Amino acid sequence: MRLIILGPPGAGKGTQAARIADRLGIPAISTGDIFRANIKDQTPLGVKVDEIIKSGGYVSDDITNEIVEDRLSWDDATHGFLLDGYPRTSGQVDALDAMLARHGHALDAVLELEVDEDAIVERLLRRAETEGRADDTEDVIRERQAIYRKETAPLAHHYDQVGLLVKVDGMGEVDEVTDRVIAALPQHA
Ligand code: ADP
Repeated sequence: MRLIILGPPGAGKGTQAARIADRLGIPAISTGDIFRANIKDQTPLGVKVDEIIKSGGYVSDDITNEIVEDRLSWDDATHGFLLDGYPRTSGQVDALDAMLARHGHALDAVLELEVDEDAIVERLLRRAETEGRADDTEDVIRERQAIYRKETAPLAHHYDQVGLLVKVDGMGEVDEVTDRVIAALPQHA
């Protein structure tokens, strides 16, 4: 299965991505994780994107598309993958389509985790308090949610129009949400 997962910050998207990929026997590929690993190892790519990521901006489409194309060429992704954090712009949507078409492949579904924004804000604020993260204030959290809505809505709309969008209720226990996602997949395994 070739899948994308969309979901707002705090929705537990990374956790679900790992679990869903595990169940389906495909790799979960997070562009954020790839960038962070490169920054940690100070690779040429890491050095190049460090400042951009620290400032909260987006890495350019050219760089991002290239690292995804490379990652999708690994053996473990031949029969499927779950992309987390990519695509994020319409340029990336087009680039991904072109990459897949070159290999005669196509996406099977785009999962969108739907969550109650107020509940997530509450959860993140509690976490900020217990973990002493002073930067996670309500304003900052709501701003991140707003950016997500603004940047992701057009992508979700696009995938809805081409019949790929699958919305899943992301509220509840972690296991429950994973089961729901698996059950919602087309021709689920
Ligand atoms: P978040 O913390 O919002 O979940 P990620 O872990 O997905 O973010 O990504 C961290 C950072 O890496 C982003 O803020 C951005 O700078 C960069 N990044 C990740 N994916 C992309 C992408 N598809 N396009 C451009 N930049 C990206």
